[in-house]
Amino acid sequence: MALHITSLNSGSNGNCYYVGNTTDAVLIDVGISCRETEKRMNKLGLSMNTVKAIFVSHEHGDHIKGVSTLANKYNLPVYITEKTAKNGPRLIAHLAKRFAPNEPVCVGSLEITPFAKCHDAADPHSFIISSQGITVGVFTDIGNVCKEVIHYFKLCHAVILEANYDEVMLENGPYPLHLKNRIRGGLGHLSNKQALELFLEHRPPFLSRLFLAHLSKENNHPQLAKTLFAEKSNGTEIIVASRYEPTEVYIVTAPGEKALQIDRTLSKPLQLALYESINLVNARAKLASCSDFLIYLQTKSGFLYPDKCP
Ligand SMILES: [Zn+2]
Ligand SMILES: [Zn+2]
Repeated sequence: MALHITSLNSGSNGNCYYVGNTTDAVLIDVGISCRETEKRMNKLGLSMNTVKAIFVSHEHGDHIKGVSTLANKYNLPVYITEKTAKNGPRLIAHLAKRFAPNEPVCVGSLEITPFAKCHDAADPHSFIISSQGITVGVFTDIGNVCKEVIHYFKLCHAVILEANYDEVMLENGPYPLHLKNRIRGGLGHLSNKQALELFLEHRPPFLSRLFLAHLSKENNHPQLAKTLFAEKSNGTEIIVASRYEPTEVYIVTAPGEKALQIDRTLSKPLQLALYESINLVNARAKLASCSDFLIYLQTKSGFLYPDKCP
């Protein structure tokens, strides 16, 4: 059994994360428009028919922008707490469902467990999603690493984890002091350093993938964050979730199963013969490092490449 996971968008301009198996999926937050959500899923070969529910982490606009339109269009239940709903998306009443912290909710063959977190919102929660022994966590908008975050992090085979800002960049950056203090004050966002400490101190041995998420445009840089983690990844694949485009669909499996499995629906022209040189050149130019490029090749082809820069 496996869980398919992708970030459709990640950052203060919109968050939407897809987690599911071959029959059922949930969206954690829909902070991009309904149309953009559909477009990006379609591009990845994912179907809205598989999506059975939306879970809302908190009421900030970058997490709810497309919730009501998408839910209404597809008649999807929206799991949201009462306090979040008061300030959150306008929903048709019958679509709103409640959840409570640490009480698992079953959606088809998936089990979603919410837990409370520290963030300056009415009633913020994060979630783990489990299916037949595989667990994925979606932990963004976290002011600090509380014991709940640690507890659930330790259960995960893959985690979408906030790495919002570099402390030096925030300190020296353009934000006014009150905003800097809001971000780093314990109810804002997690720094690269805080996220790295969580990863290094509490990573379970079966954590195969870590997505760095909700990166600040002004106070962080994808390559900076990736390098910081990659140096100490010890076998865990590090992926930066973009503010501008979806990640590939990653398939998370149990330990001992093949670590790199590819959703072949993504890559119809799978054969290397179809990699026209122009696409490779463009991809190489866009990706920041040789290792990024190798991951790109691997995810496109399903084949492992030798550990050298092509
Ligand atoms: Zn956010
Ligand atoms: Zn927020």
